[in-house]
Amino acid sequence: MKNVSNINNKSIPEIYKNKENCCGCTACYSICPVGAISMKPDSEGFLYPSIDERKCIKCYKCLSVCSFKIDQKLKKYL
Ligand code: SF4
Ligand code: SF4
Repeated sequence: MKNVSNINNKSIPEIYKNKENCCGCTACYSICPVGAISMKPDSEGFLYPSIDERKCIKCYKCLSVCSFKIDQKLKKYL
């Protein structure tokens, strides 16, 4: 039987830590293959992504597509 322990041990991605780490571009929302991300308004009406942990398959496409994080990685912030 195939060992899937690594898949099961992966954690739900932390898509952003605080609002400074997200510009609300919706790229993560668009790329999620299972529709686990929804964009929810904060108290001022700005949309930020939220992951439904029951749907997430931990593929991390949302992290890889986030240009904000890629930019931070290039700058060695991440
Ligand atoms: S792709 Fe990154 S910057 Fe864009 S909404 Fe998602 S977390 Fe925010
Ligand atoms: S890890 Fe994959 S399934 Fe989970 S929210 Fe991100 S893109 Fe969607």
